[in-house]
Amino acid sequence: MERRHLDISGLVQGVGFRPFLYNLAAHEGITGWVRNNFGGVELEIQGEKSKISSFLKNLPLQAPAAAVIDSVAVVDIPAVSESKFVILTSESGQISGSPLPDQGICETCMEEIRNQTDRRSRYFLNSCIVCGPRFTIMEDLPFDRSRTSMVKFPLCSKCQAEYSSPGDRRFHAQTMACPECGPSLWFADSEGEMVPGDPFFHAGKILNNGGIIGIKGIGGYHLACLASSEQAVARLRILKGRDNRAFAVMFRDMETLKAECEVSDDEAKVLTSAARPILLLKQIRTGRIAHSVNPDLKELGAFLPYTGIHLGLFTMDDNDSGISALVMTSGNRSGEPLTIDDSLAFQELTFMVDGFLGHNRPILWRCDDSVMRFGQGKLLGIRRSRGYAPAPVKVGRSLVPLLACGAQQKNVFALTKGEQVFLSPHQGDLDQLETFISYQETILRFQRLLQCKPEWAIHDLHPDYNSTMFARNSSLKTIGVQHHLAHVNTVIAACQIEGPVIGVAFDGSGYGTDGKIWGGEFFSGEGACWKRNAFFSYYPMPGGEGAVREPWRMAASYLQPTGSERFLNRLAEKKLADQWTALRKAIQLGINTPYTSSVGRLFDGVAALIGGPLQVGYEGEAAVWLENIADNTAAGIYRYHIDHGEDGFRVDPGDIVTQVLEDMDFCEKSVISMKFHRTMAALIGEMVEKIYAQTGYKQVVLSGGVFQNRLLLDLAVEILHNEGFEVFLPEQIPLNDGGIALGQAWLGNLMIERGITDVFSSSR
Ligand SMILES: [Zn+2]
Ligand SMILES: [Zn+2]
Repeated sequence: MERRHLDISGLVQGVGFRPFLYNLAAHEGITGWVRNNFGGVELEIQGEKSKISSFLKNLPLQAPAAAVIDSVAVVDIPAVSESKFVILTSESGQISGSPLPDQGICETCMEEIRNQTDRRSRYFLNSCIVCGPRFTIMEDLPFDRSRTSMVKFPLCSKCQAEYSSPGDRRFHAQTMACPECGPSLWFADSEGEMVPGDPFFHAGKILNNGGIIGIKGIGGYHLACLASSEQAVARLRILKGRDNRAFAVMFRDMETLKAECEVSDDEAKVLTSAARPILLLKQIRTGRIAHSVNPDLKELGAFLPYTGIHLGLFTMDDNDSGISALVMTSGNRSGEPLTIDDSLAFQELTFMVDGFLGHNRPILWRCDDSVMRFGQGKLLGIRRSRGYAPAPVKVGRSLVPLLACGAQQKNVFALTKGEQVFLSPHQGDLDQLETFISYQETILRFQRLLQCKPEWAIHDLHPDYNSTMFARNSSLKTIGVQHHLAHVNTVIAACQIEGPVIGVAFDGSGYGTDGKIWGGEFFSGEGACWKRNAFFSYYPMPGGEGAVREPWRMAASYLQPTGSERFLNRLAEKKLADQWTALRKAIQLGINTPYTSSVGRLFDGVAALIGGPLQVGYEGEAAVWLENIADNTAAGIYRYHIDHGEDGFRVDPGDIVTQVLEDMDFCEKSVISMKFHRTMAALIGEMVEKIYAQTGYKQVVLSGGVFQNRLLLDLAVEILHNEGFEVFLPEQIPLNDGGIALGQAWLGNLMIERGITDVFSSSR
């Protein structure tokens, strides 16, 4: 008889790991015990030597699908006298385990809801050992019902029996419940007054009449309306104060989704995965989805129901007006944090909705839907939140305890613990006061949940970012990391790249070490030792941030040196000539005119020049327009000239924009767009070659929000591959500012270790 003590670390809590071990032990005839602890799961097993080795062999092979085992430490201990295997209650205390992300409802639970003879028939908050909310209902670790918002719902005797029965699929399922003991659904009118009767009947009636309802789901409230109704979608856009950004659509099932979008096998797998993100897919445009959902775009953000509540909306069996697709957008006014609290929802969303569908289980963490897309054979992140956060990113080496504060837009912050970086759920844009307040609260709560005690705060160099101010006002030691180097280092950390790289950062804007606005940079280096090898020549941003909202100003700025008559005439047609005269004066006097190397601004300018939006509702709108109109079959390219100055290589974007202007007499805008994309990709290829000639580095990192442009990314990767470079892109972690905290943590840690504050000086 032998006995072993096992310590298993990783994502092993809340995935049915202890019941799995119980059943495995029973199968092998092994005795002992198991419990959740601060590191994950710990157990002692006792039995014949052959049975113990069989147990240890099968443990990793048969573990639950959602579990991620990092390590198993096995120690010999003396055998004791015992006769069975038991599950013990959890140890509390210092935590190093990880909270599990929310898991979309599983097929078996959906079946139970549909099955009229099951005792959970039409129990829309159904969950089991492998599915249901996790992170968003978690008060504390380890993951036990008593530390979640399910504590309000003690198990009834039937559920208790399932919970304690080793063969049951709800054996030790912390979020399980039934109609008798679990949380229940309600329907309220737009004022928040409860309305008796079947909640789905009321919700369905409003939706089918073209109304809008607020729906409380897993990570917060959604606003929903029929995706087929132009009128409903238009009304939602106005009420929410939403710009031209596309809405996402939730489809009833995969069949309905496939009727509207092209779906590859890989994409189908992600759509039905436990994370159930919104996936950007090529749309077929059947006419069933209102045009105003994603005006003129080729892609649609699509996703599938991930809780029984969604299922109920699509399958109202007593009501044959079945809904097949709903616009689902976060329940907030544009820019404000997602609403999770019922009474706040009744106050703040009341003027946008015709009713509310909800439940009485509190949501403890705000968690927006994740947005992803496939590119270059990878699942590329646009927003990493519900279903993914807060699963840690492993970076392969231990980091000092720190807080990486993120940027200003699309904020995500990060906390470190050993080799793990915990990226927060999506926080939003910190220039909104409500969002900034929520950001600060969330940092404190996240620290408590993960028991992280940061000693350092890593922040952006931009002095006016709220995240920077938060770091500087905190009691932590601080280090600033340049925005685009952070972008490059995000990819290095996520892909665990070893050795030096050439880093390309094409971005909207970020504060440079020379006080200019960077965003078209080429770096080389490794560790905490970097060089800026090349950049786009600086051009004025007339009126500062105003140039982001009005891309025509950038077009004018790039054309200013050549003083193009033709563009001035176009401005006059659009009644902008007077404004330009004033802005031009301001540029000459140096008033409110920062200078920028941003490629995001260059895409804006070219778009505005050839017929795209002159004013935009959100950053990136003009660039999305430009990519969307490109004729992929068109050939041709613009000339560009790479200068070699004292501070590195330089390319003049004005030169390219001038050719675009001349080309407008000869080419369709779809052709010009394609030529411009080809030019930018070729330029990346040539610049990387030049830096390779200086450094010998063969690894290339593409980073920054501009690379969300699928066309540019594909063209650039193809060229770099043909030149023999290895190109790195991270899975799930956004290339935009939503991923920047990972790079801040990685590079900040290296700077702390080396005791330096300037990564550029040490390389010279
Ligand atoms: Zn389930
Ligand atoms: Zn029950």
